[in-house]
Amino acid sequence: MKADFHLHSFFSGDSDTAPELIAEIALQRGLSAICFTDHYDADYPYEDVCFELDTKACLERIAGLRSAYKGRIKIGSGVELGLQPHLGALYRSYTGRFPFDFVIGSTHLVDGKDPYYASFWEGCAPKDGIRRFLEVTLENMKAFDDFDVYGHLDYIVRYAPLEPRSFFYEDYGELMDEILKFLISHGKGIEVNTGGYKAGLGCPNPCPEVLRRYRELGGEIVTMGSDAHTAEYVGSFMEEAREILRDCGFRYFALFKGRKAEFVRLD
Ligand SMILES: [Zn+2]
Ligand SMILES: [Zn+2]
Repeated sequence: MKADFHLHSFFSGDSDTAPELIAEIALQRGLSAICFTDHYDADYPYEDVCFELDTKACLERIAGLRSAYKGRIKIGSGVELGLQPHLGALYRSYTGRFPFDFVIGSTHLVDGKDPYYASFWEGCAPKDGIRRFLEVTLENMKAFDDFDVYGHLDYIVRYAPLEPRSFFYEDYGELMDEILKFLISHGKGIEVNTGGYKAGLGCPNPCPEVLRRYRELGGEIVTMGSDAHTAEYVGSFMEEAREILRDCGFRYFALFKGRKAEFVRLD
């Protein structure tokens, strides 16, 4: 079975795609389950995009879609939270107020700056920027752990001015291990985000080395998501992700419903 558990519709500030179109395309592409995970990034400091989320309207619209597609494709309601170390209490109260199926915690900002923008890298050595991103990721999960999986763990390599644009586990092994051990000991999963292929990395985020390490350390909860912001990428590169998971020693991937993991064989 194919499932895409990381999807953005126009409820996200950086997408114009109607959720109805995403559901229709997912059905056409043979997916059995999808979960919308629109952005909510509190205290996002840049003015060119707004990452607030009209959560109530979003959940209502998805509930309507779920009924309309009943028996054809399963549709979940999730959210992708842009974590920052000072936002723990705010997000705890937020996730407690809404009946999500699935919550992704992600690092999008490093000390209040977004590595997506070239200005982040001015005066910052690429490897120092990546290291700081991982340190902040660890601080984020210590401040707030009411998420189900951590999003795109090494995706900063999409933006770091490095050649090749690859994440080398050995450069940050101790720090990455600390992150993975924290997640495993708190019963948290990670995702295979196939947006890495779209970004031209030739692999998902995190890269196979990190996925393998999560498995070696005892991690078992992995969701698959395209991080599509347009219809074109819904369900994209799922076969590649499945192959990598198998290679890394996983036998199951996870879906979430009502914040509980359901495991599906990777055949
Ligand atoms: Zn993200
Ligand atoms: Zn996303």
